[in-house]
Amino acid sequence: MKKILLIMVLGILILMSVVLIRATSFKSKQVRVEPVSDFPLNTEQIADRLSKAIQFETISYQEPAKLEKKEFIGLQNYIEKTFPKVHTTLSKKVIGDYSLLYTWEGNAIDLKPILLMGHLDVVPVKSETVDDWTHPPFSGSIADGYIWGRGAMDVKVSVLSILEAVEILLEQGFQTHRTIYLAFGHDEEVGGSNGAREIATLLQSREVKLEYVLDEGGMITEGIIPGIYDPIALVGIAEKGYVSIELSVEAKGGHSSMPPKQTALGILSTAITKLEKNQFPAKLTGPARRLLEYIGPEQDFPNKVFSANLWLFSSLVKRQLGSSPATNALIRTTTAPTMFEGSDKENILPSEASAVVNFRILPGQSINDVIDHVRNTIDDPRINLRLLNLQIEPSIASDVESPIFNLIQTTIHEIFPDVLVTPWLVVGATDSRYYAELTNNIYRFIPIRIGPEDASRFHGLNERISISDYENCVRFFTQLIRNSNM
Ligand SMILES: [Zn+2]
Repeated sequence: MKKILLIMVLGILILMSVVLIRATSFKSKQVRVEPVSDFPLNTEQIADRLSKAIQFETISYQEPAKLEKKEFIGLQNYIEKTFPKVHTTLSKKVIGDYSLLYTWEGNAIDLKPILLMGHLDVVPVKSETVDDWTHPPFSGSIADGYIWGRGAMDVKVSVLSILEAVEILLEQGFQTHRTIYLAFGHDEEVGGSNGAREIATLLQSREVKLEYVLDEGGMITEGIIPGIYDPIALVGIAEKGYVSIELSVEAKGGHSSMPPKQTALGILSTAITKLEKNQFPAKLTGPARRLLEYIGPEQDFPNKVFSANLWLFSSLVKRQLGSSPATNALIRTTTAPTMFEGSDKENILPSEASAVVNFRILPGQSINDVIDHVRNTIDDPRINLRLLNLQIEPSIASDVESPIFNLIQTTIHEIFPDVLVTPWLVVGATDSRYYAELTNNIYRFIPIRIGPEDASRFHGLNERISISDYENCVRFFTQLIRNSNM
């Protein structure tokens, strides 16, 4: 008996030492660099230029006929007038009427070009919410240290700061070794098929291979990872897939005074409940695993011990990440019922009812996996499934061991010494997917700081960017182009 007890105690001690040794030898992946601050910025001027760009109502509508030609042409002309050096040195090609592709020719033909992205269009503002904005949505007001308006965050901020960076570098007589493409689509918010897709097709027809692509996607945020108190720069290395499935049921309609045991809506409700109860399993693979490798060493006790010992604590870490919607979306394909339709009169049974469920698919899974999961989970032959039109498979993940991830990480540390950097999974779809054939290195990041109350500003009310964030965006792109000159 004593012997068994002794063996058990010994076993526990060995286990504890393995766990602790792994935690203490969990090495930081942050890069130590000197901060860089030599950027001649005219704050008032750059803020004013972004403000003016916001004033063009370059709205993407689901119905292409509603597009306001003069707003897009106005913005094109404004950019041309505002960045004279860009327009004398770089060549410009207009694609799909309103998208812009600039080429800054490098002098080293053996180096692969890079491509910096943004989009010129914005989402509409609902007319009933216009009065709820602190400053009118297309005013570009500069007030209280912010530039206000639709596009301030998504994503005229990157278009304008990339142009500012190039203009500054040209003023300084900077010569790029690599060719640099600036690609600004005009229809990202409605799928990008006339903009980014056409630009990518053109480059592909020229047999261009890119060193890397940088698009929007990740940002600088705080308080979303357990045990981390510093701001974190989230660099998107992959993005989730997208599919919506309509579930429909046909039934005998008729008067509601003599209903069957279960109506079409009841059948659908049961199916939706089953889908919500049986979520896709959580997985700590791909980008989620990379996140824990970068963030784990920086976590406090005991979170660091958990991240360093996933062989023992993976279910606990999955539970932790799964408990908030922002991190739950990183570890599983998500299930979101969004639409429900039955009869259009209160006393009539529906002869057909339908519901739509939107899924965001984890890299490594596919649209077919989602269909199988839905079919097996609801397990009801009365329900028909139909895929809605927009279907996007998840991207592959770009390498975090590549020199390019290191270059982006180094640039972030140089401009933001207080920030940790981690690979991230972007939960929405960006235009960068069109460039997948041109490079394996696609990263998604804009250096703007997002607090908990800022997430709703995207596509929502009171979109704005602080002037200091905007200055940092210009600094970031300037330094990124300098660092890419190798
Ligand atoms: Zn966007």
